[in-house]
Amino acid sequence: MPEFTEEQLMIADLARRIAVEKILPVREKYDRSDEFPWEIVEAIAESDLYGVFIPEEYGGFGGGVTEMAIVTEELSRVCGGIALAFAATGLGAMPLILFGSDEQKKKYLPQIASGKRLAAFALTEPEAGSDAGNIKTTAKKDGDHYILNGTKQWITNGGEAEIYTVIGLTDPSRGARGASAFIVEDGTSGFSYGKKEDKMGIRGSTTRELIFEDCRIPSENLLARTGFGFMVAMKTLDMSRPGVAAQAIGIARGALETAIDYARQRIQFDKPIIANQGLQWMLSDMATKVEAARALIYEAARKADSGEKDISKISAMSKLFASDVAMEVTTDAVQILGGYGYMREYPVEKMMRDAKITQIYEGTNQIQRDVIARALIKEAARK
Ligand SMILES: Cc1cc2nc3c(=O)[nH]c(=O)nc-3n(C[C@H](O)[C@H](O)[C@H](O)COP(=O)(O)OP(=O)(O)OC[C@H]3O[C@@H](n4cnc5c(N)ncnc54)[C@H](O)[C@@H]3O)c2cc1C
Repeated sequence: MPEFTEEQLMIADLARRIAVEKILPVREKYDRSDEFPWEIVEAIAESDLYGVFIPEEYGGFGGGVTEMAIVTEELSRVCGGIALAFAATGLGAMPLILFGSDEQKKKYLPQIASGKRLAAFALTEPEAGSDAGNIKTTAKKDGDHYILNGTKQWITNGGEAEIYTVIGLTDPSRGARGASAFIVEDGTSGFSYGKKEDKMGIRGSTTRELIFEDCRIPSENLLARTGFGFMVAMKTLDMSRPGVAAQAIGIARGALETAIDYARQRIQFDKPIIANQGLQWMLSDMATKVEAARALIYEAARKADSGEKDISKISAMSKLFASDVAMEVTTDAVQILGGYGYMREYPVEKMMRDAKITQIYEGTNQIQRDVIARALIKEAARK
């Protein structure tokens, strides 16, 4: 267990209560219907949890990546899909927190902190996934406006959020170096929503296309400076990857707890299956991996919150390790429940489906290994 402060323990307790009292009774419903869980968004907002990662002067609690991870982990322990209504808003708010001007922060952060408006982050395009520098969306200056044209793909909270950070090219001739970051509000003329995806897991989390057709946005919606868009995106991902890791490990904890409960109750050969050393050792390995991943996640979060300059390596490590652990642990949990684990009547098959995305988004785990290797090579060259 990481060393949390009194306040952080209270936040964890509050998030756990919402997860158990509000999310648990409806998680199967949302997994089947794939509707957006507005009733849970309201419950999270009423508890002020959307404010945990927002600075106090902008209406939040004043916490950071650690608090965001704590809430995400507790919600994901019950449902990794519904938890994204919270976590993806954290991702969407991060560019504003890191790079917003005082006016931009004053305008948007209190709305996010209160849960009145959700946020989202839009980088990916049909031809730019891992190769994010290959984006094609353009943002052409026109007087005191920018005109956005292009399509963003697979945006979490797309169509539900009202505040979007969008990365577009202000100077297409310079590629990624000509990218800039903008705040785009729902309802802006020329901004519409496209295809909503039908997914394997994290159902109840909307994944949708954003379409920009001569979308005019005021110049004051530019974040940082022109040409800084790729840097805004990469620094944002450094801060948010421990959150994906927390989602992964929350899912893994839920699966581990379900497997232990089941193994204590299921009788085969006249004894509970947990009496078999083979299963005990499986559970021991699962619990050890979860604990190791948690230590790494909260170390990454601590470094992020302490203002350490370059956290790319540890942030990528936390996401890589925790998501691989989540996939292993949820798969083993299905195995421990045997045939029942494969049935939708039990939650572990959903947990296994939900875990998979954590190895893919915010940079696949192959890309995390690239980030880590780049840092290792840089460190070695400095010696
Ligand atoms: C459910 C969901 C929600 C998402 N939410 C958001 C969001 O809110 N905002 C947003 O901007 N994006 C979002 N994404 C996009 C996500 O970040 C990308 O899917 C991810 O970065 C991978 O890109 P890709 O799917 O195009 O895969 P590709 O880049 O096409 O990769 C395909 C495979 O090739 C491998 N690969 C590619 N390049 C290399 C390389 N250089 N070395 C080794 N292997 C490589 C990858 O690891 C992967 O296994 C979301 C995606 C999904 C599925």
